[in-house]
Amino acid sequence: MESPESSTESSTAPAVPSPLRLDPRQIPGNGLHIQGDAPAGFFGLTEGGEVMEDRPLHYDLQLQPDGSELLATGRLKAQFSLECGRCLGRFAFGVEIPQWSHLAKPQDDQMIDLTDQVREDILLALPSYPRCEHGNIDQQACPAEGQFEKVEPTTFDESGTSKQTAWDALDDLT
Ligand SMILES: [Zn+2]
Repeated sequence: MESPESSTESSTAPAVPSPLRLDPRQIPGNGLHIQGDAPAGFFGLTEGGEVMEDRPLHYDLQLQPDGSELLATGRLKAQFSLECGRCLGRFAFGVEIPQWSHLAKPQDDQMIDLTDQVREDILLALPSYPRCEHGNIDQQACPAEGQFEKVEPTTFDESGTSKQTAWDALDDLT
């Protein structure tokens, strides 16, 4: 079964070609090391949005077949431009996952696509409510700090758990 064009199976596929989409038949039994920068647009973020790609994803991964599975381990790094929810200024925020790992379970001859998993794990490391002081590249004070704190999001107020973030709430479901 030859299917040279296999790029239409999902609408969630990134608009740019992903270097993290791999043919398992091209990964030798003793493993494969891949490293480089993903093309701009890898994260599928909107230009001018609250979260923008600042520097492309850098990946440094070891891919190790294990029976029918593939273990990917290594380092991921990216940098974003976030919009401060208080002053609407932008600041840079770097994300690094030094020991990322993911076990992929490819089906027969299908492509292994680590793209969605990498995107998700990196984007989950971003602050839920970005503020200037979260900036970890250049420290900057928020020019609007203390001026109108009432815009602080309180989405979970009605349940009496106002200190929770969305991610905490997700954890509680488990
Ligand atoms: Zn700010």
